[in-house]
Amino acid sequence: MVSAHNVPHWPSRRRTQRVGRTATATTTKGLPDPGHGSKAAVAAGISAVEERTDALDEANSIAANGPVVFYRLRGEPTLPLLEISHDITQFGHDRDALMASPAGLPVLVDPRDWPRVETAMARVLDKRVTQACVEFRLRTGDGNCRWVENRFTAVRDADGRLIEVEGIILDLTAMRAAEEKIARLTGTDALTGLANASAFTHRVRHAFAAAERGALPFAVLHLGLDHFGSVNDTLGQPLGDRLLQEVAKRLRVCVGERDLVARLSGDEFAVLQTEAAEALDAGMLAQRIGTALAAPWCIGGNEVRMTTSIGVCPGVRGSGSAQELLRQVDLALQRARRGGGNRYCFPSGRLDQAVRETTRLAQDLCGATDRGELELQYQPEVELSSGNIIGMEALVRWHHPTRGLLGPDAFMQLAEHTGNMAALGHWVLDEACRQMRAWRDEGIAPLMIAVNLSWCELLNGEVLVRDVAGTLAKWRLAPSDLEFDVTEATLTRLAWARNDVLRALRKLGVKIAIDGFGSEFATYDYARTWQVNHLKVARSVTQRLTGDAPGAATIRGIVDVAREAGIGVIAQGVETEQQRLLLAGTNRATRAQGFHFSRPVGAAEAGRLLREGRIAGSPGR
Ligand code: C2E
Repeated sequence: MVSAHNVPHWPSRRRTQRVGRTATATTTKGLPDPGHGSKAAVAAGISAVEERTDALDEANSIAANGPVVFYRLRGEPTLPLLEISHDITQFGHDRDALMASPAGLPVLVDPRDWPRVETAMARVLDKRVTQACVEFRLRTGDGNCRWVENRFTAVRDADGRLIEVEGIILDLTAMRAAEEKIARLTGTDALTGLANASAFTHRVRHAFAAAERGALPFAVLHLGLDHFGSVNDTLGQPLGDRLLQEVAKRLRVCVGERDLVARLSGDEFAVLQTEAAEALDAGMLAQRIGTALAAPWCIGGNEVRMTTSIGVCPGVRGSGSAQELLRQVDLALQRARRGGGNRYCFPSGRLDQAVRETTRLAQDLCGATDRGELELQYQPEVELSSGNIIGMEALVRWHHPTRGLLGPDAFMQLAEHTGNMAALGHWVLDEACRQMRAWRDEGIAPLMIAVNLSWCELLNGEVLVRDVAGTLAKWRLAPSDLEFDVTEATLTRLAWARNDVLRALRKLGVKIAIDGFGSEFATYDYARTWQVNHLKVARSVTQRLTGDAPGAATIRGIVDVAREAGIGVIAQGVETEQQRLLLAGTNRATRAQGFHFSRPVGAAEAGRLLREGRIAGSPGR
């Protein structure tokens, strides 16, 4: 067996660069200098570079003078089209027909690119983000597609609630043609068929410019095969070349469809991860690659084992320049090598630690349900007039073995991000129904139990509906015993994606509530058109009850809309007696929830509250 671990010598740059039949232009540090390139590259490719620059200039000017479509969407869950400029006719669409269509803007998006457009819109709904940019194929009136860049800008009021989304669509057809031309000119690595250093640099620049315009952050990974030079010396160059080809194959399998893998020089590779919303995404990819390349290789009858050092650098808005990014990722690779290889490093130790901790938490979360570390706490929903407990909301907690009790804010997003949400959601549903059955058997059950549903759980509607029906049957509960809470942001994503899972759930007979109502949109008229059972008024809205006159008017307005539409109202986040009195004084808000009545409590304490039937802070106590 040939093992890189048995070889004490560090391969020199000189040695690794002669590996492989094709010499690739690199700086002395490995990655190509995006500003200048090595002398060899410049000498060999001077005419290609000139031609490339011409092609880009030409494409830029065509894009700048091409059709630009402006539009506005109203800030409410269905995001209806308020206005679209006449330039849309240049894409073969009739403006008036488009305005009249209930399908709205999504009808323009090629289904292949829908997930990315949906992700960009989800970012716009995030109050911390004002702009998002995404490239997609726009369906033209004649049934063809044209590549466009779409920029969303969120227009918000002083409280951060969405008023409108403004959008611009730019035709990228010429730009794409120029890119293809550039790819042809810059070429590929002859040994592996991967992109070469020059093509990689070009794509990094492009990704950097897109991120500056608001596209999803990306990441660059720079890989060095540990001790490859010695393996190459032992196997001989032809087998060394075979190994490099196999490395290329494994790398292709590790990355996403839109990511780019390149071979930069002898034993150095790079990956452009085009969508890396968090540094964690890049860390997870680095881990996947490290594991994939560490598995044994069979090259010419020899078993070879090899490890990889990886430098990782996230490319986010405002992070300098593409050139700086490539310098940083090279430094990160040097850190990984200095640390003994067989690892990935970010440019800073602090980021390394943060990503490793999050990765560990994600791994811990995977087995948390099986190890019995999750718990549901319950918070009562009370009737304002009587103080009777009407419902219980189930809220998940994690008893982490070393970090202690964690609230959902510490791990829910992580669960969504790492694909653990479906399992976690299933556990929550099952446990909440089991508890409801236990309360029913004891004769103390509330009218309903509320369970939160996140976007990830709703995404696969059919599976969810089947799971809900099966779980209700398992615990012998009626569908009306269960209410699902869905936030306004989730509602918007469902409406925008024309996902009708809520309708299917309602058909099943379960109740639906809009959670945090009044926090996302500046209008609440939209509630009239949504067939939900309850509006759970956001804590931020309830808190303004005692703050100012407009705050009190807001809640009265919400209650009026709800009453007209036959929807119940539950005011969330009631913390004081004054708030309770003001709510009761509206004579319209009927139910409430909040620390004034009870904090979320464990199942035993919730059982005690249910046995009493009413709780402190309610009238008559
Ligand atoms: P939510 O559904 O709006 O739940 C109410 C949150 O507000 C709870 O926080 C609760 O402890 C807190 N709260 C209730 N009354 C008051 C009050 O008077 N004052 C203050 N300051 N806070 C109050 P928690 O348990 O940390 O949950 C946060 C969010 O996490 C929930 O917001 C919900 O969106 C999500 N979540 C919790 N459990 C689950 C779950 O099992 N599944 C899903 N998908 N999401 C969950």
